[in-house]
Amino acid sequence: INRFFQPIQNISNLFNVVSNAMASCERIFELMDYQAEVGDPAQPLALGKLRGQVQFKQVDFGYQGGELVLEKFNLDVAPGEVIAVVGPTGAGKSTIINLLTRFYDPLSGAVCVDGIDLRRVCQADYRRQIAAVLQDTFIFSGTIAENIRYGKPEAKMAEVIAAARAVGVHEYILSLPQGYDSEVQERGSSLSVGQRQLISFARALIRDPRILILDEATSSIDTQTERELQAALATLLRGRTAFVIAHRLSTIQNADRIIVIQDGRLVEAGPHAELLRLGGIYARLCEEQYRAG
Ligand code: ADP
Repeated sequence: INRFFQPIQNISNLFNVVSNAMASCERIFELMDYQAEVGDPAQPLALGKLRGQVQFKQVDFGYQGGELVLEKFNLDVAPGEVIAVVGPTGAGKSTIINLLTRFYDPLSGAVCVDGIDLRRVCQADYRRQIAAVLQDTFIFSGTIAENIRYGKPEAKMAEVIAAARAVGVHEYILSLPQGYDSEVQERGSSLSVGQRQLISFARALIRDPRILILDEATSSIDTQTERELQAALATLLRGRTAFVIAHRLSTIQNADRIIVIQDGRLVEAGPHAELLRLGGIYARLCEEQYRAG
């Protein structure tokens, strides 16, 4: 690993002591077609295509009668805004995502999309417009085409190819003897970390989600792969509301807004440069990490 890459690794360690957050967050799945903990209301509201505005309004939440994990949590996210969520393990980052995906309901307050309380909406309509890419990007045994199409089972081959092309993995796939019909292994080494990530981006992209959740991988990658992933990520994020549990400094810096979560509270929020100027927690963490690096 070269010197240039060092700070990125360090900051990822920091922001992601989180690494287990999502792993432990077994309720967040790569695709959101799962049964939630909470059911539809008697008369669920059918949703058309979302704009992607997200609001947390005075949300209190705790798990099963435990202590409050989020307290009076407020967040207003504009359609298309990219939010990097950072903070120590146990801060409540995954919990925010659990509420956003409606695996749980707030104890008080509300989570709204496009101004509609999530408790009122048809979950299938809602989930269809969400995609999540998790850090232990899962590839199942099957062909590459199947792995991408998993994001949208009815997708035509042309859509699979368009998605792969958009994230920059098409050429690589074509270079394989079997192309899109190449078999990949769940845990095998036939794909590099970067390629697995790109395929999972293509899988999310094919859904054309309005809301994207990304738990960034922490695995060390070379600078070239880092660059490819950032370019693919930019494509994936474009025009979508996104919540990124970010581990790479480049992603954090590119986010429209960074929110720093500590003990279930939003303690700082703003773009990278602004938070550095503010000289608070975020700035201190960055500085420490750079010094260490
Ligand atoms: P982060 O993602 O920032 O690491 P989490 O949102 O996972 O934080 O956790 C916030 C708090 O909620 C922690 O104290 C954690 O132990 C607790 N917690 C998370 N998930 C559950 C769960 N399913 N049941 C009970 N407590 C949980």
